[in-house]
Amino acid sequence: MPDRHLINQGGLLRRITPGMVVVFFALVMTACILGVVVWKALEAKSAALSRGATDIQNLAHSLAEHAGHTIQAADIAMSGMVDALKYRNPVAERFNKYLAETAAALPQIREIGVLDADGNWRYSSLPETPRYNNADRPYFAYHRDSADKALRINEPLQSRLTGRRTILLSKRVNKEDGSFGGVLTAAIESDYFSGFYRAFQLGPDGGISLLRNDGAIMSRWPFSDKSTDLSRSDLFTRHLKQSSVGYYKITSPFDGVVKFFGYEETPQYPLIVTVAMSEDWLLSAWSAALRTDALVAGVLLCMIILLAALLSSQFNFRIRTERALRQSEAHYRLLANNIADVVILLNGRGTLRYVSHSVEQMLGIRPQDLVGKSCFDMVHADDKEGVMAASARLNGSGAVSTAMFRIPRADGSIVWVESHFKQASERDNPGEAEFVGVLRDVTERKRMEDELTLLNRRLTQLAATDGLTGLTNRRTFDGFLSREYAACDEISVLLFDIDNFKGYNDTYGHQAGDRCLQAVAKVIGDATSNSTGLSARYGGEEFAVVLPNLSEDDALKVAEAIRLTVRALGLPNSAATRGYLTISVGLATRTRSTLGEAALVGEADVALYEAKRLGRNRSIVYSSLELRYVETGSIQHDPEFAPDERKLAH
Ligand code: GH3
Ligand code: MG
Ligand code: MG
Repeated sequence: MPDRHLINQGGLLRRITPGMVVVFFALVMTACILGVVVWKALEAKSAALSRGATDIQNLAHSLAEHAGHTIQAADIAMSGMVDALKYRNPVAERFNKYLAETAAALPQIREIGVLDADGNWRYSSLPETPRYNNADRPYFAYHRDSADKALRINEPLQSRLTGRRTILLSKRVNKEDGSFGGVLTAAIESDYFSGFYRAFQLGPDGGISLLRNDGAIMSRWPFSDKSTDLSRSDLFTRHLKQSSVGYYKITSPFDGVVKFFGYEETPQYPLIVTVAMSEDWLLSAWSAALRTDALVAGVLLCMIILLAALLSSQFNFRIRTERALRQSEAHYRLLANNIADVVILLNGRGTLRYVSHSVEQMLGIRPQDLVGKSCFDMVHADDKEGVMAASARLNGSGAVSTAMFRIPRADGSIVWVESHFKQASERDNPGEAEFVGVLRDVTERKRMEDELTLLNRRLTQLAATDGLTGLTNRRTFDGFLSREYAACDEISVLLFDIDNFKGYNDTYGHQAGDRCLQAVAKVIGDATSNSTGLSARYGGEEFAVVLPNLSEDDALKVAEAIRLTVRALGLPNSAATRGYLTISVGLATRTRSTLGEAALVGEADVALYEAKRLGRNRSIVYSSLELRYVETGSIQHDPEFAPDERKLAH
């Protein structure tokens, strides 16, 4: 079971291509980068929101404090005035001045005024006390009808004096007996708060509101004249009931934008300050950072994809190249190991780097036993020099060097090898150059070639030799004469004819005749064996000798020596008058007037004819004959002529 498991694993690993690894790597990298970016973004978003919450709440707290103190300062001043009006009836001019000084000391207060019990202006901080009646105002009715001495913060109204939106603070003025004596009012410009709120950077959808605890809007930045009833909003129905301070997310009832919203109620007065900032504003810095991060991540991802594509194409290219290399190497090995020839690879120093398997069949030696050794060590001692000379011819040339040499087999027998070497690669260092050699076993071919050469030589010899006597034949003689005649100015031809040979045959038989021919041929052959001359069987019982570079006298000596030696053999011939075998010789030596080698032979023949005519067993020199030409052109012997026989012996 474990084996099968391992095999399965191996199969799986083989199926995983480098391209898949690259894709996996790219995906993991992409996931990591996206993960880091998203994680960082979420962290930063929550930090930004948390910072925003703190800012909003801090601002709401500060503004609540500010609103409280603003109202409180006016409240304190107004309490003093109410007391003063309760017990005294101040002179208008002096009290007006007091009111004006107080209004001037408190920048939030635009004017202070006192209405009498009928709603008419009694005192005013203004230079001129208004004259109209304010009994119709709701706050007047409230104070007239309620004994409440606390400060009343009225919802903003349109000032009859300035026409501007005004927050009116009012207090009931009691007479000494406690009855209603009028109303003290202090006007605060609604813009006082909004002008202060405008200084804060809250973004395009941000805003600050000052509300009364019944939902009335006292002041708001940015200003909006939309009158919205906030008493039914979550702030009043839920949040304020739970806590006087809070923070939450809303969809604004004014503009419908999602905002974060902080509020705080002033402790002394029924006022609430709300601060709102849009989510987009709070997250604007975060969004910008996120865009940058996304851009960087995008660039990184593009680079990873590019890198992965590059790597993948590189891997694919290498795999294809390796596969092609393996295939071509397999083909070469298949070839090198399966052909009968031995393929070898060697360096410039002749060291064998590779030897194909076929060497085992050819030499009986394993390839690994040869690799690393010098190729010259394989070669037969007698052929080493030739092989080294052939290898020297290879250096630096692209030509093929061929050599034939012997290699001793492992069993001691000899293999004839034909080799072709070629330089396969060139290097700067000649010792590192590589040579490829193909060795072919030609032992059998060599043996057959040698046999053929021998046969050819014998055939040539046979073609040139007379079978009976062993002398060269007529054809060879003609060739030799032609060559020598062309080469030598001094040349002689001797023609021999056995005397009365027909009778010899008739007397002793044809076979005895053959033996006689062999005996005579031997004498003639021996005469030229150590010279530049040539002896031949000219035909039948006739022989010829060519003697180049020999004078007529010397040639005659040779002719005579042959004739006498034949005579000295003492072969009996009863058909001859003398009872012994003799020969006649005709001799011709080239002169200026000789027309050619055929003419020279003709002259020797004429001399031979003359030797016969004069009684045989003699040598006749052509130059000693006197000839006359008859009209027919044939040569006739002059019967009157007595030739110089120059007979040396008989
Ligand atoms: P002469 O002295 O005039 O030369 O007389 P001859 O008898 O020698 O006459 P001829 O030259 O006409 O005769 C040649 C003879 O040589 C005829 C032939 O039987 C014989 N002969 C030629 N060739 C051979 C041969 O190969 N073997 C034998 N045994 N005889 C041969
Ligand atoms: Mg004859
Ligand atoms: Mg004869």
